[in-house]
Amino acid sequence: KTSLKNSINKLKSDSLASIDWAGTSYEWSDDVNITLQNVFKLESFRPHQLSAINCTLSGQHAIVVMPTGAGKSLCYQLPALIKPGLTIVVSPLVSLMEDQVRSLTKKDIPAQLITSNTSREDSNAALNILKDKNSPIKLLYVTPERFAKSKRFMANLQKCFADGRLQRIAIDEVHCCSQWGHDFRPDYKFLGILSNMFPKVPILGLTATATAHVLTDVQKILNIQGCLVIKSTFNRPNLFYKILEKPSSQEECLTILEKLIKYRYKGESGIVYTHSIKDCEDIANGLRKRGLKVASYHANLEADARSKVHIKWHDKHYQAIVATVAFGMGIDKPDVRFVIHHTISKSMENYYQESGRAGRDGDRAECVTLYRMQDLFKVSTMVFTSVGSLDHLYGMVKYCLNGTLCRRQLIAEHFDEDWGNADCNKMCDICSNPNSNVREINLESHCKTLASIIENADKQDTKLTAQKILDAWFLKGPVNLRHKGKEPSISRAVGEDVIAYLLVENYLVEDFHFTAYSTISYIKKGPNIDLVQDPDFTLKMPVRKYSQFEIDRPAPIQIETNDNNIEVKEKTIKKRKLMASDSSQTKKSKT
Ligand code: ADP
Ligand code: MG
Ligand code: ZN
Repeated sequence: KTSLKNSINKLKSDSLASIDWAGTSYEWSDDVNITLQNVFKLESFRPHQLSAINCTLSGQHAIVVMPTGAGKSLCYQLPALIKPGLTIVVSPLVSLMEDQVRSLTKKDIPAQLITSNTSREDSNAALNILKDKNSPIKLLYVTPERFAKSKRFMANLQKCFADGRLQRIAIDEVHCCSQWGHDFRPDYKFLGILSNMFPKVPILGLTATATAHVLTDVQKILNIQGCLVIKSTFNRPNLFYKILEKPSSQEECLTILEKLIKYRYKGESGIVYTHSIKDCEDIANGLRKRGLKVASYHANLEADARSKVHIKWHDKHYQAIVATVAFGMGIDKPDVRFVIHHTISKSMENYYQESGRAGRDGDRAECVTLYRMQDLFKVSTMVFTSVGSLDHLYGMVKYCLNGTLCRRQLIAEHFDEDWGNADCNKMCDICSNPNSNVREINLESHCKTLASIIENADKQDTKLTAQKILDAWFLKGPVNLRHKGKEPSISRAVGEDVIAYLLVENYLVEDFHFTAYSTISYIKKGPNIDLVQDPDFTLKMPVRKYSQFEIDRPAPIQIETNDNNIEVKEKTIKKRKLMASDSSQTKKSKT
């Protein structure tokens, strides 16, 4: 029975997918265009927005998958104005709803929200919108718990439906339905009743999470299997991806950051992401001491200090914001030219979001990550208590350890997409590296050595951190822990990569211990280490190569294109010049 259901759903989604939804000869097409220009004051649609709008206006359920910042909100905000009645928007965060209602109100679009913070009077008024046939409100924002916990809301919603006024239900961040997603919220499960309760009312789900697993789960939970999934590519062709070796001393790190900001990104603005509030403050101070105009930004800043930082950054008063990941939501600056990660992100998903704040204007921008093994433990000891978090982190580490595959390809894997080297256009450090001979080293004997180091320490009741294992392996540190054989023929830097590689491949595992002040990651033998005993066992690791990357020379400003693309290049350069003169004007007027 389930397989029959599955094939019907497959047929349904195939036939929906075969329709060209981006057409402009629907009965509402003229209206849609006029609304886009006159109400939203936008010139044209971004990719897939029109398809989503036509599909939902046709009364079909759909799920829209686009990267953050791609413009998902328009896919339900605009249709809401095309037909009579009310659009319900479900959103998990009150602050996001407030932002949207504010910006809609500015455009004279009647919108309202109900949250648990709103007073009884306000929420009565908001609830009456559902019953009042003459209410001018077109979009009503609610949190998911409203459906789960308020009988009055549900009663009024049913009345709205009975009156034929329930036009559409938009569910933002729809991945929150699924436990497989990275942000499961139990109240979203309750939304599953909507499709049966309100037949023929189209549901429009929106998310930036693209894995196939989550998407089928979401359709199942919402009971809209076989609906159209509109998915835009997650490739950002104008972003250049680069891994830099991170030195062990903070001063040397500061020197790299200083040079990047002073020379490579001279006159441009960007973000430096740091691991903790303390790091954030230290690095911002260090850079200020070196004469750079930077600001720090993290969760401990008061709200108005935060918005001041935002404004001064927009005005190019600061060249860089040194931030924790608290700096993200609501960044609407199109010309961010660089995003530097001083410490790796906790997952590829996070890395994509954070680095993706660069280059929204479509011009070339750079995403540079400083990586060293020690940072793996800095992050793992912070995240290990939540389920799945180590796997997510190891995905990020694999990206950093990689020295042979296009970085884009690794990002694509994460989004279940398939981008080839052709999509990269030499816009990553691997593809742009001319000497691409790969050296591989055999890890069999290294595995055995490391296992024996751990066993030996175990006999002496000693736990080893990765750093201690490295010492023992390279015949340093306490004599009783040292490996009895010869010093390995690889450099210590490659040794670090070997240990990280064996961790992410489960030959070694982390073992976390709490102390009064911190958490320590010790290294134990992992489930795969027994494979080493097999005489036919082989394990090879490609050794990373460091491509040339001048931190003290200006970054290229345009994307390398075919030579017949000179027009594009000129446009880019002109635009840049304009922006540069803009900013010097604002500076002058201020001083
Ligand atoms: P998402 O929800 O996908 O993260 P938003 O809906 O918040 O993205 O939109 C991000 C930004 O893109 C907003 O500032 C919005 O005004 C802008 N935007 C959306 N659609 C267009 C368009 N067609 N043309 C220009 N800007 C757009
Ligand atoms: Mg959004
Ligand atoms: Zn590449």
